Amino acid sequence: MMVHDEHTEIRESVRRLCAQFPAAYWREMDRERAYPTAFVQALTEAGFLAVLIPEEYGGSGLGLGAAAAILEEIQKSGANGAACHAQLYMMGTLLRHGSEEQKRKYLPGIASGALRMQAFGVTEPTSGTDTSALKTVARRDGDVWRVSGQKVWTSRAEYSDLMLVLARTRPPREGKKPADGLSVLLLDMREAGAGLTIRPIRTMMNHSTTEVFFDDVPVPAENLIGNEGDGFKYILSGMNAERILIAAECIGDARWFIDKAVNYAKEREVFGRPIGQNQGVQFPIARAYAATEAAALMVQQAVAKYEAGENVGAEANMAKLLAADASWQAADMCVQTHGGFGFAEEYDVERKFREARLYQVAPISTNLILSYLGEHVLGLPRSY
Ligand SMILES: Cc1cc2nc3c(=O)[nH]c(=O)nc-3n(C[C@H](O)[C@H](O)[C@H](O)COP(=O)(O)OP(=O)(O)OC[C@H]3O[C@@H](n4cnc5c(N)ncnc54)[C@H](O)[C@@H]3O)c2cc1C
Repeated sequence: MMVHDEHTEIRESVRRLCAQFPAAYWREMDRERAYPTAFVQALTEAGFLAVLIPEEYGGSGLGLGAAAAILEEIQKSGANGAACHAQLYMMGTLLRHGSEEQKRKYLPGIASGALRMQAFGVTEPTSGTDTSALKTVARRDGDVWRVSGQKVWTSRAEYSDLMLVLARTRPPREGKKPADGLSVLLLDMREAGAGLTIRPIRTMMNHSTTEVFFDDVPVPAENLIGNEGDGFKYILSGMNAERILIAAECIGDARWFIDKAVNYAKEREVFGRPIGQNQGVQFPIARAYAATEAAALMVQQAVAKYEAGENVGAEANMAKLLAADASWQAADMCVQTHGGFGFAEEYDVERKFREARLYQVAPISTNLILSYLGEHVLGLPRSY
């Protein structure tokens, strides 16, 4: 149910594209922990990953709502958009804070698919959610920045050409917040040399995530995004888009689980009647449906405020919280509805269940969203 949807054509064409990649494809990718290259290629060729890039640079210049519709449809089809969602949510940092030269240099290639911008290096092993305590440094050396340090959970680094890296370029200035002095660098990994090491991390779901080691990796000075030392602000402004888009994915996942459960509950007969005739089976499905529709309204609200250029911190966080909770509720319900078959690979429920679990933790964990709401929306004392 959508109150008003101006993206019906985009949704329809994403659905058609996803239909070419059936469950068996995703099962195999998952089993092998393989990157879904053919799927990402098809999305790229159809222009879906370039929707946020302005037309003058080769994209279609659409708003965040189009990106949200695309990601929701991908997840709703049973696919795993985590293979390429970052290009959409990282785009704002380059569009809003990149220089004209940077945009001319990189955006047309990203739009055509010649360049992949899929890696976002923020999280580090020792600092975790406390981003301002990160230890990766970038030191100016003539006309390059030299990056040293380590990132963890840098997803898709092996399948991306470009990485946005958050690094400390100087200590915080007196009286400024600890995040002062962090800067965003656009690293072209093809030119990084021997100092860059990428090691895959095998996870419970297929996510192509890695740890990345930087040993004096040179980044041309002109690849600094925006002002030196202001990088955290740029990352934060991009994070609202990221939260909204991940929330849209969670809505797609929740709808997939609900459809799957409804169909199964109608067909599966035990005690001589469909299991869905039992209210003990119906009600959890109905609850998951209500939670999903409510969360979807919050996602729409967040998209509308984002597109209107308003401060969307509260809505972006609430959308992520509610949508991730709705998808996890639906995932759990779907396993329960399927009984033993919920655990069988060939039903795809267990795979989507593993994939949906991530969004309680990443890109921002539930506790940290609640802290944001407590402190910044409700005016409660800061807890950390
Ligand atoms: C599969 C995967 C892909 C990812 N992809 C990327 C990526 O591409 N780029 C990137 O930069 N990062 C990525 N991440 C990292 C992700 O954003 C972090 O894992 C997440 O933000 C949580 O940080 P952490 O793991 O360091 O947990 P920690 O910060 O160590 O927190 C651990 C637990 O403690 C809780 N906690 C911590 N502090 C508080 C507090 N003050 N109050 C209450 N609870 C608290 C948290 O909620 C969490 O549940 C990815 C992670 C995963 C698992």
